[in-house]
Amino acid sequence: MHDISRSTAIFERAKQYIPGGVNSPVRAFRAVGGNPLFMQRAKGAYLYDEDGHEYVDMINSWGPMILGHAHPIVEEAVKAALAYSPSFGAPTLREVEMAELICALVPSVERVRMVNSGTEATMSAVRVARGYTGRDKIIKMEGCYHGHGDSFLIAAGSGALTFGTPDSPGVTKGTARDTLLAPFNDLEAIEERVEENKGQVAAIILEPVVGNMGCVAPQAGYLQGLRALCDRHNIVLIFDEVMTGFRLAPGGAQELYGVTPDMTTLGKIIGGGLPVGAYGGRKEIMDFVSPVGPVYQAGTLSGNPLAMAAGLAMLNYLQGHPEVYQHIERMTTSLVQGLTRQIKEAGVKATINQVGSMFTLFFTDKHVIDFETARTVDTQKFATYFQAMLQQGIYLAPSQYEAMFISAAIDEKLISRILEASRRALATLG
Ligand code: PLP
Repeated sequence: MHDISRSTAIFERAKQYIPGGVNSPVRAFRAVGGNPLFMQRAKGAYLYDEDGHEYVDMINSWGPMILGHAHPIVEEAVKAALAYSPSFGAPTLREVEMAELICALVPSVERVRMVNSGTEATMSAVRVARGYTGRDKIIKMEGCYHGHGDSFLIAAGSGALTFGTPDSPGVTKGTARDTLLAPFNDLEAIEERVEENKGQVAAIILEPVVGNMGCVAPQAGYLQGLRALCDRHNIVLIFDEVMTGFRLAPGGAQELYGVTPDMTTLGKIIGGGLPVGAYGGRKEIMDFVSPVGPVYQAGTLSGNPLAMAAGLAMLNYLQGHPEVYQHIERMTTSLVQGLTRQIKEAGVKATINQVGSMFTLFFTDKHVIDFETARTVDTQKFATYFQAMLQQGIYLAPSQYEAMFISAAIDEKLISRILEASRRALATLG
């Protein structure tokens, strides 16, 4: 057991002032036990905690650090922007450059509005879809997480699922009534939902590749089926690409699977680690957004100069270095192949889902394709595995219902190190 006395002391202090001592629930480590580690700094593939320990980072701020931590390109861009003032409350050239880049790369986006988080992006996208269609209901998939907007805290994934509150108290019955549910990867169920609510469904929203019940890929024909269904019923199809946008491909999952939604939400990745989000879509729909149209949506810090500078630096770099995508996918595949071999050798009931540089090791022998199968996992086994990895300097996502994200800073040597740690961790599972 390594000494984490500083982290422990800070956590005790934090609990006096912050609910649960953290500003986002999964960070509290409740699903895996023990005290959370307070991080001091990070560089490349590594995190360093307040007690000075080094960890190989497998979550990368839940996705955005595609190039690894404190990449010089991003650091320089933020420093330069800071010297010009961190905020104006007036439009800036960088916001236009960001919008041009998103419109050029994300197939569904003709107009885009910047916001400050993924939550704001999904809330706003749904409001616009409702304004555009004049309908109230939305359909979301069980186990998908779209941030903490009231409409989405129904059978929600991520931390809501981890803490056993996928339906949060505080969401009014009226709001909950307007959110209909369907299992992920089940076209028949969603067709039924649409038929039962004919002419009332404004939008279908989903993570095209789910990250928030762990990584779950869409089955062949699923996204195409949703596209056709939305076309038949004039429903706005929204892909929440907060995790997948610019990660699975420059144009996100919609580029990878060749299915173009009507609207797209983006988040953390386009800020290169700074707080940001965006929603966009067809011009005809986005023209409903104020000040062109009647749907109101605004933000004091939206399009923040530091976030734009960081995001543009990273996205432009990725544009100029497409080999980064090949590298992170190759590293992830190599890790997943190694883990798959280990599971077999150790005789552990586990299965792995991978799409590009996202993956989850699920402690279940079921093939995980939806919320129901995701819930068959052994969370206790995961917690034991997590702690055994942490003790060996590997920082995994502290919940079974999350994806892990590989950065460009991870190389073959580190993959070997992670696999070596994993072999020992699996051996502790008995
Ligand atoms: N949508 C998806 C798919 C996400 O993964 C998340 C966060 O992880 C969100 C929305 C919410 O984003 P934020 O935490 O920035 O509000």
